[in-house]
Amino acid sequence: MILITGGAGYIGAHTNKALHNAGYETVVVDNLCKGYENFVKWGNFENYDFGSDDLREVFEKYDIDGVIHFAAFSSVAESVEMPQKYFKNNYRNTINLLKIMREYGVDKFILSSTAAVYGNPEKIPITEDTDLKPINPYGHSKFITEKALQREAEKGDFNYVSLRYFNAAGCDFDCEIGELHDPETHLIPLVLDAAIGKRDCIYIFGDDYDTPDGTCIRDYIHVNDLADAHIKAYEYLCNENESNIFNLGNGEGYSVREVIDMCKKVTKCDFEVKVDERREGDPAILVADSSKINEKLGWKPKYDLEEIVSSAWEWHKKIKDV
Ligand code: UDP
Repeated sequence: MILITGGAGYIGAHTNKALHNAGYETVVVDNLCKGYENFVKWGNFENYDFGSDDLREVFEKYDIDGVIHFAAFSSVAESVEMPQKYFKNNYRNTINLLKIMREYGVDKFILSSTAAVYGNPEKIPITEDTDLKPINPYGHSKFITEKALQREAEKGDFNYVSLRYFNAAGCDFDCEIGELHDPETHLIPLVLDAAIGKRDCIYIFGDDYDTPDGTCIRDYIHVNDLADAHIKAYEYLCNENESNIFNLGNGEGYSVREVIDMCKKVTKCDFEVKVDERREGDPAILVADSSKINEKLGWKPKYDLEEIVSSAWEWHKKIKDV
């Protein structure tokens, strides 16, 4: 049985579905502070805060083989406003979870990490051995969590894989689950809100970056490709007695303006685009070199930006009145 923390959230729910389709048994632990119970359509559900000591009850009830840990706060902007909230939940509560895992002899762990651990890297595309210099509390909270995992693995009888996601986007092609944040802060759903008429316009956060069109460049990766990587990472932990860290991106960068243009093309809707101030904590360019996970686990992303936006658009139309 795989325990999925945050499995009622966006990436956790997609991974839960993929694990189910691959024949795994799962139990989702989520306190629903960000997630949605109706996203847990597969496996078991337990409403717990993963940072609480009561979590032991879940380890008593189920025979847990490994943990995939999605539960975390993930807004860069909010982390700049409320760093303590990020260090407490993303770092301290994860330490508590590791302690409970040790008590129950659970030795496999997958962390949702992030490209934000790199900060403003000098070399693009980014490889895993790039210096880690996070420039916002969100990235920092994941950076120290990775360090704690490394120490834990050095103690023995424990292995982890840290997956450094670039920009997760897109939705389940069956539209059973999707992306739904409150408040929404991510670029693609916000642009689609403008396309569908829920917002008057989309604001670009800064067009004076050192990039070809002045807007930030990101590497967008379909959530199903991320889900697939978790399954491969879990199998790796089961088969090899070692820990590892992998980037997960498409390896192609798109500027904010290019993403907006793709959304206009896919939706066939026009809307106003305005330029606003830079958002604090945003690096100019983040693009992954994912060759390590390709070589080691045979993982390759399947979906490009157009498919990412199309799948997000189908979901967006379905939930437009939510
Ligand atoms: N962005 C933007 N307008 C928005 C939301 C985001 O210009 O309304 C930009 C943001 O500054 C960043 C990129 O879009 O350069 C992706 O932001 P998002 O919040 O989706 O993901 P992040 O890169 O912060 O994880």
